[in-house]
Amino acid sequence: PRAVVVVGASHAAVQFAESLRSNGFGGTVQLIGEELHQPYNRPSLSKAYLKGEVTVESLALRGSNWYTDHSIDLTLGERVVRIEHGKNGSGRVHTSKVHSGENEVSSYVYDRLILATGASPRKLNIAGTDADGVVELRSVDDAHSLRDRVASGPVVVIGGGFIGLEAAATIRSLGGTVTVLEAGPRLMGRAVGEATAAFILAAHRTMGVDVRLSTAPEAILTDDHGAVRGVRVAGNDIAASTVLIGVGVEPNIALAESLGLSCAAGIVVDHRGVTSEGTVLAIGDCTVQPHPGADLDLERSVRLESVDNAVEQAASAARVVAGEPDSVRAVPWFWSDQGDWKLQIAGLTGTHDAVVVRSDPDRPRRLVVGYFTSGRLSAAECVNAPADFLALRGALNNGTLVTPEEFADTSAPLKQLLK
Ligand code: FAD
Repeated sequence: PRAVVVVGASHAAVQFAESLRSNGFGGTVQLIGEELHQPYNRPSLSKAYLKGEVTVESLALRGSNWYTDHSIDLTLGERVVRIEHGKNGSGRVHTSKVHSGENEVSSYVYDRLILATGASPRKLNIAGTDADGVVELRSVDDAHSLRDRVASGPVVVIGGGFIGLEAAATIRSLGGTVTVLEAGPRLMGRAVGEATAAFILAAHRTMGVDVRLSTAPEAILTDDHGAVRGVRVAGNDIAASTVLIGVGVEPNIALAESLGLSCAAGIVVDHRGVTSEGTVLAIGDCTVQPHPGADLDLERSVRLESVDNAVEQAASAARVVAGEPDSVRAVPWFWSDQGDWKLQIAGLTGTHDAVVVRSDPDRPRRLVVGYFTSGRLSAAECVNAPADFLALRGALNNGTLVTPEEFADTSAPLKQLLK
């Protein structure tokens, strides 16, 4: 191909462009993103940026010179609204200007199309979600409006997943009052095991976050001016001037569907990022991809919402476009900083048949959990244990053997055990 167009301009798209150039691709590379800011670091939005510790400029994934230096065309503030895709893989995308309401302002020709459209916050179907003071947290602008509101009164976070919990911890560190409502019986139910969820729950309670499990909001309450005044749960009202909705994301698949690409919980791609229409690739949060479980024969299709996944998928898709052979994919990993509690996860749980907790009473702020499948280490979760995490991630990538009994024995450091 000579002309590559990428829809989206965030973690996956920028990494894709960089990897394409480092693989020697000499054609044009056009990134089209609907947001106005230079592509930026999203994880900071619930952490340092929400806290006010860093500027918006410092969030940029690459300096603005980087795009010109690498001959990457970056168009911001335009949304791709329509794609004419030809049989041979080439076609044309049509855009509209997001912030001026113009229809179909430009079009871009490609002979290779990449979808890196990411995901959007899931909507909550209760009364009051359109009230003034109801916010979500996906973009710089969202983070900005949440930060501006923290001083004005109590915050209720709906959803005990990573983003809601990170934001809650940050709001506490700013001196705010915050309640987290989680409909399920534990925190981060989709992503971590019970031991880690219970440990993080205790951490939030130590920080002064009022966490309520098995508590679903019934309605967001508003005053006469349409502003939030609270949240109704099981007949009780919790006072709030801000409600943050953090109930997960939906992949942005509308364009993929318009092209007839196979979609499930995301755009279905193979392990290299190729969609059901062999000439179109998709990368990042918008995709579902097969991942080997601990039992390497058993591939599961999963949607991973992490920077690591966006970066790895992008690098792999770039090799496809540049005609380079595929490389071995490392085990997926993820981090979540919740106040000064650092959670790190490597590998995928779900196939495991044993869970081993390594806890050391002398270090009560640390937790290490290993998941074993047929006696083999298949995933790990660590809290405030970055050195152990590195050792475990290395072991998962190298297939280092360790028995559950050895893992449980805290007399030997993991670094030594997993050498
Ligand atoms: P996105 O970052 O969602 O980018 C997609 C882009 O495409 C968006 O800018 C979107 O506006 C644009 N777009 C969509 N459709 C169109 C269109 N039709 N035309 C033009 N543009 C379009 N991950 C971690 O690993 N660790 C963390 O600690 C962590 N913390 C997070 C905290 C927050 C608050 C958030 C929101 C996310 C966090 N994540 C974290 C997740 C991580 O940010 C995502 O996995 C990552 O951003 C995925 O990158 P992406 O490029 O696939 O998608």
